[in-house]
Amino acid sequence: MKHNFGAGPCILPQEVFKQAAEAVIDFNGLSILEVSHRSADFVKVMEEARELVKKALNVPDGYTVLFIQGGASLGFTISALNMMRENKKAGYINTGTWASGAIKEAKNVGIEMNVLASSEDKGFTYIPKGFDIPTDLDYVHYTSNNTIFGTQFNGIFETSAPLVCDMSSDIFSKPVDVSKFDMIYAGAQKNLGPAGATLFIVKDEILGKSTSPFMPSYMDLQKHAAKGSMMNTPPVFSIYTSMLNLRHLIQNGGVDAANTRNTAKGNLLYSEIDNNPLFSGPIANEDRSNMNVTFLLNDGAPSDIFDTMWNEANIIGLKGHRSVGGYRASMYNALPIESVQVLVDVMKEFTRKNG
Ligand SMILES: *Cc1c(COP(=O)(O)O)cnc(C)c1O
Repeated sequence: MKHNFGAGPCILPQEVFKQAAEAVIDFNGLSILEVSHRSADFVKVMEEARELVKKALNVPDGYTVLFIQGGASLGFTISALNMMRENKKAGYINTGTWASGAIKEAKNVGIEMNVLASSEDKGFTYIPKGFDIPTDLDYVHYTSNNTIFGTQFNGIFETSAPLVCDMSSDIFSKPVDVSKFDMIYAGAQKNLGPAGATLFIVKDEILGKSTSPFMPSYMDLQKHAAKGSMMNTPPVFSIYTSMLNLRHLIQNGGVDAANTRNTAKGNLLYSEIDNNPLFSGPIANEDRSNMNVTFLLNDGAPSDIFDTMWNEANIIGLKGHRSVGGYRASMYNALPIESVQVLVDVMKEFTRKNG
């Protein structure tokens, strides 16, 4: 058995992989890959997937759930285009690579950019706090969990402006009050399902209100909503597997239970990082992510030996992002605490032999 600490595509429950694999061979007599997306069988899958998102996150009335393509990267553009209003002006919090990408794409479609705060001064190792927000913004955008650097907003960002959030890497990991947001988006492949689908949870009120002169039909969320998320061929396998994973999540106590498990996994690994003299964590304590844990080997400690040890323990995907270095343990919902214990044991053993 491998222990998959990869940052994305994500680990999913083994049971979900099995059920998804079965449907590739036999989904009511055909492969899920060959059925028409307009068939009654697939329309049922789409409807269940959308319903389960609402159920899992307790989405209030007045919101629409969509599964479309393009990844969170296209979500940067889609969110800006759909949230643009009279002022064509928005506030973004720059907490790292993905937030910077969102800033760039919003500018590209003509948003006057206000970077409200940035943690770039310290290598994105903290979440900025206590800054002013102008009152004339069309919306505020932030990234709830910074997959690459390992920081996470602890709670929902407070503002009176319409709020947009890229939740790609921590959605479904804990409860979230959806009513605070006008738009949430997330690439499926970090905590939900296979790559291909991008989840949007959108307040109905915001649909069709864009002032953008440029609005390709595919980017217009109102059009997707009007077609029941079936404007064109949806990524059927990603949506089907996401539906299976949402069923699994709900059967296992939903996001509350997931949060309890994720907190236990985070505590286990962070306490080892803090107590082991050969390792350190670069992230401000109160801003540490439970999804992506970044850590460093202290100067002088032999990284080649550590790398060999975790590889031999069947650990996968522990290298930090190529732009940051160090180590990153991504611990999405489906990663069992036993895998985290294997990593902690390797760290202890490494220090016993090399400390
Ligand atoms: C991975 C990631 C993205 C990019 O997602 P794609 O679906 O690959 O476009 C954007 N934002 C965050 C927070 C991510 O973790």
